[in-house]
Amino acid sequence: MSGQALTQSSMENSRGTRLQQRKGRRLVLFPLPLKGHLNPMLELANILHSKGFSITIIHTHFNAPNSDDYPHFTFHPISDGLSEGEASTGDILHLLLLLTVNCVEPFRDCLARLLSNVSEEPVACLVADAIWHFSRLVADSLKLPTIVLRTSSASSFLVFGAFPLLREKGYLPIQDSRLEEPLQEFPPLRIKDLPAINTCELEAFYQLVAAMVNESKASSGIIWNSFEDLEQSALATMHQDFHIPIFPIGPFHKYSPTSTTLSIQDHSSIAWLDTQAPNSVVYVSFGSIAGLDETDFIEMAWGLANSKQPFLWVVRPGFIRGSEWFEPLPSGFLETIGGRGHIVKWAPQHEVLAHPAVGAFCTHSGWNSTLESISEGVPMICLPCFSDQKVNARYVSQVWRVGVQLENGLKRGEIEGAIRRLMVEKSGQEIRDRCIALKEKANLCLKQGGSSYQTLEDLISYISSFFFRFQATSSGLLDGLL
Ligand code: UDP
Repeated sequence: MSGQALTQSSMENSRGTRLQQRKGRRLVLFPLPLKGHLNPMLELANILHSKGFSITIIHTHFNAPNSDDYPHFTFHPISDGLSEGEASTGDILHLLLLLTVNCVEPFRDCLARLLSNVSEEPVACLVADAIWHFSRLVADSLKLPTIVLRTSSASSFLVFGAFPLLREKGYLPIQDSRLEEPLQEFPPLRIKDLPAINTCELEAFYQLVAAMVNESKASSGIIWNSFEDLEQSALATMHQDFHIPIFPIGPFHKYSPTSTTLSIQDHSSIAWLDTQAPNSVVYVSFGSIAGLDETDFIEMAWGLANSKQPFLWVVRPGFIRGSEWFEPLPSGFLETIGGRGHIVKWAPQHEVLAHPAVGAFCTHSGWNSTLESISEGVPMICLPCFSDQKVNARYVSQVWRVGVQLENGLKRGEIEGAIRRLMVEKSGQEIRDRCIALKEKANLCLKQGGSSYQTLEDLISYISSFFFRFQATSSGLLDGLL
């Protein structure tokens, strides 16, 4: 009997009696400690828990999740070896390089301890963030299958996967003289949309990307926070070319109304939105990592003010390079706009985007933000900063056509123009209509018969097959079959 046939038949066997069988099954999840990764992993944990699995989370001390918010999960912290200075660096590549070295041994020890604890429920598999590229080998050595969670888009993953080819063809590293050239391999991307970053450690970046891609493809499956109707073409390529199952089961945050609380959220946002007219407010947020220099921040502020639309702006402490909070705002700015602007340090973004007053989202095009905006039918003004954000922004403006991208840096006139285009002009209404149609698809895919609904069922069966295998192997049932 082939492994594949075994998996198939065990999937069928398990369907009927799944609820019973799932009792007493544990999954170990290993999130990367960056908000854009941690949030979706915790949302996935809630989804899997609602399907009957017990959840154990191995996490770093750095950016540790608040276990009080998840009394239904078990948490195991591991040492990340970061000094205070390293933990507060703005250099994300450097941080990831440190974490992916420092955490190997602590992760191995922790996982081995968990697996050897016979008083605990047996573990079916590890679910690890794709950036934790070492985790599959560690789990393999302990005879535990690994499913990878990739928290970004499927489309950008394919581009990352093509980095060796793109380097060979001379597209990478990106040269200023070739920015506008189309990428024949990935229409409608141009060279300038490649998910690159500005770093003097280019080789280390390429190696990290290669390890992420290769280890994901060598795992037992990849889960995507995406859905078939959104990324049909990229997902079809993966279904065809990858030798492992692909599980697009997103959008995760729509499975349950509760949002994760990884930063203290300013609920004055919602009270302020309640006082605004429907579809009138521009919500502005650049996620949890991207920052602006002072000049860009001031251009942004005047662009918002001159648009005459009300705006809700998330300005994280440290968001403006070299400043504590928003002190570089020109004097008289807040007086000029009167009550039209509201600035907070962090907002309950899911609730904000779902609020009827919000009419547009000015975003850095992080994947979570993009998906959250699409899920609420809110058109976007894209200002991508680095990495996959550039791919996402191009898809928003050219593939799904649910937003516009600002191409020439941050200029007040362009920001004002983009806001007017989306919120006042006829072409904006067309963009909004397409966005609402895509929101409908996002809702439908989670309903019975929808693609994500069905794929989640398949994922549960697949994970259950690991458990069946584990039981059969331990009892000798499969002797001679495998
Ligand atoms: N977010 C939030 N409140 C804010 C800003 C961001 O809750 O004020 C959340 C947002 O909903 C999203 C995540 O932080 O889930 C940011 O992830 P994304 O992938 O968009 O960007 P990243 O932070 O990874 O650059």
